[in-house]
Amino acid sequence: MSDFPQDISLDEAYALISPLMRDIGAQSQSQVEVPLSDAANRIIATDITSTIDVPAQDCAAVDGYAFYFEDLEKPLPIVGSIKAGHPFTQKAEKGFAYRIFTGAPMPEGPDTIAMQENCEIDQEGSVILPQNLKLKSNYRPRGENVSKGEIILKKGTMVGPAEIGLAAAVGLSTLPVKPILKVALISIGDEIAEVGSRSGSETGKIFDSNRPMLKAMMKSIGHQVVDFGIVKDNLEELIKTFLEAKNKADVILISGGSSEGDEDHTKSAIINSGGIIDFWRLALKPGRPMVSGRIGKTPIFGLPGNPVAAFVCTRLIVEPMMSVLQGQLEQYPIKLEVCSGFEKTSRKGRAEYIRARLENGAKGLHAVINGKPGAGVLSSLTGADGLVEIPAECDRVKEGDTLSFLIFREAGL
Ligand code: AMP
Ligand code: MG
Repeated sequence: MSDFPQDISLDEAYALISPLMRDIGAQSQSQVEVPLSDAANRIIATDITSTIDVPAQDCAAVDGYAFYFEDLEKPLPIVGSIKAGHPFTQKAEKGFAYRIFTGAPMPEGPDTIAMQENCEIDQEGSVILPQNLKLKSNYRPRGENVSKGEIILKKGTMVGPAEIGLAAAVGLSTLPVKPILKVALISIGDEIAEVGSRSGSETGKIFDSNRPMLKAMMKSIGHQVVDFGIVKDNLEELIKTFLEAKNKADVILISGGSSEGDEDHTKSAIINSGGIIDFWRLALKPGRPMVSGRIGKTPIFGLPGNPVAAFVCTRLIVEPMMSVLQGQLEQYPIKLEVCSGFEKTSRKGRAEYIRARLENGAKGLHAVINGKPGAGVLSSLTGADGLVEIPAECDRVKEGDTLSFLIFREAGL
């Protein structure tokens, strides 16, 4: 039962789990075509190549006058009025300036545009051009943005507003994407009560905060939640639920019951469901009692029950591993270097993740601790911009020390 790695670091956990996820993910290569309006947060299934140049022809980047560069020094009589969407169909002779507007196709021949703000009109109505202009100024050459045959979106990219815009720019109204992952979500514990139910206010009970929070986390990265509710600290019930969840979902995400108390049945339930444990316990704080395993081809992530620990483990390990499973370009937390705006002692041996805000003061960008400490104090996460990492080998942080900062997506930074 204890024949698995224990108390491992985050990097060891990534190294251990990511190949397993890659293997399972590689077995499902299916894809679906979705309209752009449904493509946000989906994962691109194959490299997307543009079949056109964007822009499709040379066009004006400013409002002004198109002309032959060799005519720069002469006052030029103005002809035409070339507007966006209306190509100039006559021959554009040398010795003239062609009035043109942003986005309009360049007339054939002229090779430079002068911005209207920098031009003067003489008494004859001819334009006098600014003499410091260079050849080919102020127009967008054909294919400047995207050229035909170029890969615009790589397989594994998560689609966001910019990807949708780019797909539309090359004329695509649909995108091939990977299937959404179905995540079975389960809260475990005799004391856990459904939010909205009366029993939450009974002595000894607490409202389930993990399930609504985890549901929001999963949805925000495009996964679909299959809600399995709350299960008691009961081995038989857990086994039954895990087996059902395994058949209905691609991933099982549970919280609670992963420690070593008599009422913590997660590990036994995984094994008794025919599964295996890949590791138990992480050398990090908050989040030590995390378990990760598989039941058949379904990964199961057992988060600690304490809500802050559940959040931290989801961000640091579950979400990156799900990105690997789904065949995304792998998404590990990005670490920025920041200056510590606080002092703190820490126990060596476990990396610590402190909820923090970024502030930009006289000392430059620095991180300050957000809210009260404690793995159960959810209010330390509200208003936090991310997590400051205190490495496992560090036992004291001083103001001004350089630390890694892991930004939360929702901080919008
Ligand atoms: P456990 O991991 O089961 O030992 O739980 C650790 C702590 O987290 C206990 O105080 C639990 O009551 C609490 N806890 C467990 N599950 C939840 C949940 N779904 N929502 C809020 N708190 C929880
Ligand atoms: Mg419990």
